[in-house]
Amino acid sequence: MIIVSEEVCQQVFGRADAFTAVESVFAAMAKGDAYNFPVIREAIGYQDALYGFKSGFDRAGLTLGLKSGGYWPNNLAKGLTNHQSTVFLFDPDNGKLQALVGGNYLTAVRTAAASSVSIAHLARHDSKVLGMVGAGHQASFQLRAAAEQRPFEKVVAWNLHAEQLPKLASVAEEIGLPFEAVEREQLCAQADVIITITSAHEALLMKDWIKPGTHIACMGTDTKGKQEVDPELVGAATLFTDELAQSITIGEVQHAIAAELVREGDITPIGDVINGTHPGRSSDDEITLFDGTGVGLQDLAAASAVVRVAVEQGKALEIDF
Ligand code: NAD
Repeated sequence: MIIVSEEVCQQVFGRADAFTAVESVFAAMAKGDAYNFPVIREAIGYQDALYGFKSGFDRAGLTLGLKSGGYWPNNLAKGLTNHQSTVFLFDPDNGKLQALVGGNYLTAVRTAAASSVSIAHLARHDSKVLGMVGAGHQASFQLRAAAEQRPFEKVVAWNLHAEQLPKLASVAEEIGLPFEAVEREQLCAQADVIITITSAHEALLMKDWIKPGTHIACMGTDTKGKQEVDPELVGAATLFTDELAQSITIGEVQHAIAAELVREGDITPIGDVINGTHPGRSSDDEITLFDGTGVGLQDLAAASAVVRVAVEQGKALEIDF
């Protein structure tokens, strides 16, 4: 059995690797070659933690396994990341445990890769301003990955907790992009691409604020009850998702479905655009919205690539099990 630590994951797996892994698995999901099993997520009644499993099988890539983990809100005070996860890979031929891979860094890069894939396939090519809603742990990863997809000239950002914005500003500065903290309405008036990555439970962006032609990647809503944008905005946008079943139950689209502003048939898996069976954006005025709910297969694809490279580079720990 192979073990790859958090530290080694960071050494061997970069943004381009994550983009390739996530784009390929979204394509495989849309072709029916890979599927996610139902998500388990429970409040465990201890440390206010949410714990669960995301799992699946990619028949094309022969990757079987799960990511176990969740959210421990009290961790920050202990100097730990509040999201904690570990990926388990199994041999699809015999069910034996193949690998244990640290899942914290992988979660951040694979989540950033998902919004990046959506930007690469759906945002206008002349997008100049990137809007960031959220400035927590994931936001820096999101900003770095998005900045590689279009020739952005500026970042505008809003966060409920303003004290977190300087960290995001320093990431923008590091990659050479001017950064401006703005109010939400101003952000929407300026941005060509918006990423939402918060733990909000209410609409932060309203339909009437969004410019024609904007691409929005809604990445924060991954649980029933969470919400980042106005359901009317979801109803007005052309909708794409990583996985339909999650989008309508735990993703941003759940609220527009409940309000009967959207039907399942209105939502296209992003894999169809990657595979060329859906044209994606159809005009420069269209508002496109990607509901990135986060699927287990993203984690498995990333972990499987990490194991391959870590073994090649002699950085994986191999033990009898
Ligand atoms: P974090 O705790 O580090 O940051 C939380 C962010 O949300 C901060 O910007 C905070 O200011 C903001 N926030 C908190 N409460 C808010 C509220 N009521 N209104 C508006 N903003 C609020 O968390 P993180 O690791 O950066 O994760 C952000 C979100 O992304 C979480 O909801 C997490 O579950 C989700 N997430 C999604 C995926 C996916 O694949 N889609 C993957 C990882 C994390």
